[in-house]
Amino acid sequence: MLKHQCPECSYIYDAKIGDQFEGYPPGRLFSDLPDDFTCPDCAVRFKIDFIEVSSA
Ligand SMILES: [Zn+2]
Repeated sequence: MLKHQCPECSYIYDAKIGDQFEGYPPGRLFSDLPDDFTCPDCAVRFKIDFIEVSSA
């Protein structure tokens, strides 16, 4: 629920960690990321493409 994975490169956004390199602090929910969010690793997948990871 708190993790979303890029279908292109397996990058995972974890809301508990955020992505400080991209300027998202720990606790920032994926749903609160900007709509033009793109994968920091491959940059070819948008927020809407990410897949929710159900396992902890
Ligand atoms: Zn990616």
